[in-house]
Amino acid sequence: MGSLRGFKVKWRTMPTPDIKQKLDHLLSALEALYGRQRRYSTKSPMDQLIATVLSQRTTYADERKAFTKLLHTYGNWRGVAAAPVSGIEECIASSRWPEVKAPRIKDILNLIIDRYGEPTLDFLAEMDTEAAQNLLMELPGVGFKSATFVLLFSLRKPVIPVDTHVHRVSTRYGILPAKMTQAKAHSALLDILPREADKLLNYHKLLFKHGQRTCTWSSPRCPDCVVADRCDYAAARRK
Ligand code: SF4
Repeated sequence: MGSLRGFKVKWRTMPTPDIKQKLDHLLSALEALYGRQRRYSTKSPMDQLIATVLSQRTTYADERKAFTKLLHTYGNWRGVAAAPVSGIEECIASSRWPEVKAPRIKDILNLIIDRYGEPTLDFLAEMDTEAAQNLLMELPGVGFKSATFVLLFSLRKPVIPVDTHVHRVSTRYGILPAKMTQAKAHSALLDILPREADKLLNYHKLLFKHGQRTCTWSSPRCPDCVVADRCDYAAARRK
C-alpha cells in the first residue's frame, strides 16, 4: 500500500534496531550542529501553496521576489485570479518557467474561488491529513510533494516533504535503501519517523540544511561531516 496519487499510508513497519540507532545518531549530531528545528511557515495555506508553485527550480530569494511582486501588483489572491496570464507572468519573471507557472497559478486560484467562494485554504486545518492531501492534489499542477509542503509547514499535519536534499542525505547515510526513489521515500520515512509534525519538521529541516551545506549532490564533504562515522556512503568510499 502507499499510493502517491492518493494518500494511503495505513500500515506501519517498525524500524529495525540498527536503523533506529542510526536515526538517533543522525538527529543528535545534526541537532548539535544546526540546533533543533522548530520554525513553521507564517504563511497561510493559500500563500504557502502559491509560494511552493513559485519555488520550483527557483532560489528562495527569487521566489520571494516573485511572490511579493504578484501581491503588490494585484493586491490579493482574488486580484491575481482576475489578472491576465501575461500580467502574472511578468510579475513572476524572477521565478523559473514563469510561462508555465502563471497559467497554473491563475487556474488554481479560480478553481478554489469557484469551489469554495474565496481564495483560501484555511478550512484544510479542520480536515484529516489524508483528505486534505487528496484535496490539494486535485488542484491543477499540484503534486504529492507540493501538497506535503503546505500540509506540514503551514498546517502542521504529520507528513514529510521529501525534496532532493532530504532524499539524498537519507539514502546516502543509510536511513533509506540506496536505490529507493524519491517518490517512494515519503511512505518509507513515515514508517521510520514518529508521526508527529514537530519531529517531521525537525527531520526535514535538518537534512535540508545538511544537504545544502555538506552533503551536496556533486561533492559531499565526507571528511568534514559530523555523521561520517555511521554513514554508509562514507564507509563505501573508505574501502
Ligand atoms: S558522510 Fe558524506 S555522504 Fe554521508 S551524510 Fe556526510 S557528507 Fe553525506
